[in-house]
Amino acid sequence: MLSKTIETAINAQINAELWSAYLYLSMAHNFEADGKSGIANWFKVQFKEEQAHAEIFMNYVNSRGGRVLLQPIEAVETEWATPLDAFKATLTHEQKVTSLINNLYALAESEHDYATREMLNWFVAEQVEEEDNAQQLIDKFTLIGNDGMGIYMLDQELAARTYTVPSPLAAGE
Ligand code: MG
Repeated sequence: MLSKTIETAINAQINAELWSAYLYLSMAHNFEADGKSGIANWFKVQFKEEQAHAEIFMNYVNSRGGRVLLQPIEAVETEWATPLDAFKATLTHEQKVTSLINNLYALAESEHDYATREMLNWFVAEQVEEEDNAQQLIDKFTLIGNDGMGIYMLDQELAARTYTVPSPLAAGE
């Protein structure tokens, strides 16, 4: 059984993951409208990943006899002038999510909730990847600058990204 403290904290994290999903969906449509369908695709995959993160937490709360309590999702920005702006905003956001996960981890330790700490290990590793992905794209778009051909090529590359079900969900939990 989850303690109330941990249940409340995970419910807040579920909201943060759903807000992330909403943010990336907004970015996807910003670039869809801008004719950059590859970048839009990359953010749509990101949107699905964030939904999956929320789902992993929701499944976990249920498996520990807690209650999932969905809260309103705050509005997100709707415009990013350039792909570089959007990927910089992505990195800043993911760094914030990393600190939320770290806080949750510290809380699980202080509450002696080792099952929650164990569940969070997957997210600790996932955040390393999220920050790295954003940084790599910042580097690429910085290198390209305003070169139209470069942006076109990178848009084509990002069109190839496909969604993979994260392992905690693929395991059928
Ligand atoms: Mg996430």
